[in-house]
Amino acid sequence: GPAPEADTEARQWLARHKGEFGHFINGAFVAPSSGKTFETFEPATGALLAKVALGSAKDVDDAVAAARKAQGSWAKLPGHARARHLYALARTIQRHARLIAVVEAIDNGKPIRETRDIDVPLAARHFYHHAGWAQLQETEFADQVPVGVVGQVIPWNFPFLMLAWKVAPALALGNTVILKPAEFTPLTALLFAELAAAAGLPAGVLNVVTGEGETGALIVEHSDIDKIAFTGSTEVGRLIREKTAGTGKSLTLELGGKSPFIVFDDADIDGAVEGVVDAIWFNQGQVCCAGSRLLVQEGVAPLFYERLTRRMQSLRVGHPLDKAIDMAAIVAPVQLQRIESLVAKGVAEGAKLHQPKIELPKGGSFYPPTLLTNVQPTSIVATEEIFGPVAVSMTFRTPEEAIQLANHSRYGLAASVWSETIGLALNVAAKLAAGVVWVNATNLFDAAAGFGGKRESGFGREGGREGCYEYLKPKAWAGRKLRAAP
Ligand code: NAD
Repeated sequence: GPAPEADTEARQWLARHKGEFGHFINGAFVAPSSGKTFETFEPATGALLAKVALGSAKDVDDAVAAARKAQGSWAKLPGHARARHLYALARTIQRHARLIAVVEAIDNGKPIRETRDIDVPLAARHFYHHAGWAQLQETEFADQVPVGVVGQVIPWNFPFLMLAWKVAPALALGNTVILKPAEFTPLTALLFAELAAAAGLPAGVLNVVTGEGETGALIVEHSDIDKIAFTGSTEVGRLIREKTAGTGKSLTLELGGKSPFIVFDDADIDGAVEGVVDAIWFNQGQVCCAGSRLLVQEGVAPLFYERLTRRMQSLRVGHPLDKAIDMAAIVAPVQLQRIESLVAKGVAEGAKLHQPKIELPKGGSFYPPTLLTNVQPTSIVATEEIFGPVAVSMTFRTPEEAIQLANHSRYGLAASVWSETIGLALNVAAKLAAGVVWVNATNLFDAAAGFGGKRESGFGREGGREGCYEYLKPKAWAGRKLRAAP
């Protein structure tokens, strides 16, 4: 079971705030102007965690004004001075790693092992990486200027990591931010804003406005915001694209996916089985680039399914703070219902359901690791993002057929290819419509590698040099070249 002492610090942090949070604007917590709040729950138990400010137009205005006021002097800082702030943020994440990991696990429902070993260290890495770009800004991006004031709207599946992906490059390159975390998972963003201020980040550089979709829409439509960076569903992404189309705002969209995971006859079977575990049961499958479409070559399919279903039987579903579990809770009851209903549709369409006979914890939102085989390529479960621990599987005969099946999607975020014939793997990889392709691996991320999609998975990149360009605008100087004063 969970180790109750493990979350003492998190409980103390919540208690210090009396379980109620304002927005973080201009360097301090402020109450919502409307007096309205919403509630965030613990997915593993259903218990109330905190009341959080519901952002109104006035709150967004205040945050934008603070960000605008701060932007000039933030951008005028020499790159090395901004780098010092980013290093301080990275170190503060490391210093408070345990607290952040626990708050994230209880607010999102994901396993502490993942927040501790993946989300939080990767977030710190993003700040370290972008501190480097800040230092190099004058030399590497001499003819570029910051975009300005940026509105960032993020989802609930990796609340803290998505914050880092967005905030680190924006700040590094001289922009200021209004960030809206998802309504299911607002806590680590508020915690981070508090820690960042304590680490010396100037007021107004990072503002967090909490709320639901309507607050996000207020940010998207605000006339004094220069750029919107959004990660979330393709539906909302499309709406945001429409809303910003008639304005001068820049836009990047990181949207959904239905990524293929292709296993060839000559793959290392045990490696590929572990790959599937990581591809679709990591974070309960609530991963934009989850390997959710499992394509298996016919010759190896019977053996592969046998090993995979056996492995599923040994997965443990439990409380997020239990370090011995493989999967924890689904973020919210509404997401759980969505998963259940899509799986029911898949079965009704003729798919075969494989679920291990394992016990699920009572009281919260839990769903077992699930595999659907005999899935038709055009069926709902093969085309729609389930965003849960559900792999749908099809078989293929030839590499050409694998490529055709893999590319039969409106998405194009990621793909994973498993074969011991490296020539075959690379040849197939080159033909896949995806922003990233992993070979004999899956779900690998690094701050130095630009991540992003094709097609309806969005556009723009996060991480690396490409990611920096998303927060810069080219500017041609007439006459003598100007430099920022040191
Ligand atoms: P969502 O689109 O429902 O919500 C994302 C954010 O947008 C939330 O903060 C929400 O409050 C806000 N929002 C909702 N309606 C809005 C509107 N009309 N205007 C402005 N903001 C609005 O998505 P979600 O359910 O939180 O996240 C899951 C989705 O995110 C999945 O589709 C997943 O694939 C995608 N995702 C993509 C990436 C990527 O990098 N491509 C990463 C993580 C998640």
